[in-house]
Amino acid sequence: MSVTGLPPYDEANIFARILRGEIPCKRVAEDDHALAFHDIHPQAPTHILVIPKGSWVSAADFHAGASAEAIAGFWRMVAAVAKAQGLEAGGYRILSNMGADGGQEVPHFHVHIFGGRRLGRMVP
Ligand code: C5P
Repeated sequence: MSVTGLPPYDEANIFARILRGEIPCKRVAEDDHALAFHDIHPQAPTHILVIPKGSWVSAADFHAGASAEAIAGFWRMVAAVAKAQGLEAGGYRILSNMGADGGQEVPHFHVHIFGGRRLGRMVP
């Protein structure tokens, strides 16, 4: 489902294929609601992606369509992964790209977790 004007969910996108086990990933955590894995092209010493299980293109889709339990489970995993990676003391960044203007390459809603060094200021 897409409620944001983005193209409809594409079941062939690479994260859907990772969720179906068709493509490997370096798994960090997984439960009923979400999967976390190392980004294949890390932009920081720690660069992990967290993706919800389900067919969501954007944050708007996810928050409009997923159950409260799934939404809470997703965000709990984001925080738990950051903590387990030892990022809480120094801090970290979460980021999500949305659509063409947002630079989203993979049309399955996901959050990047960056950490492990002092990150530069975000500039558009
Ligand atoms: O937010 P955006 O869609 O631009 O980011 C997609 C991310 O997915 C990129 O950082 C890319 O390196 C990552 N990726 C991955 N494993 C793949 C394909 C893409 O970690 N097989």
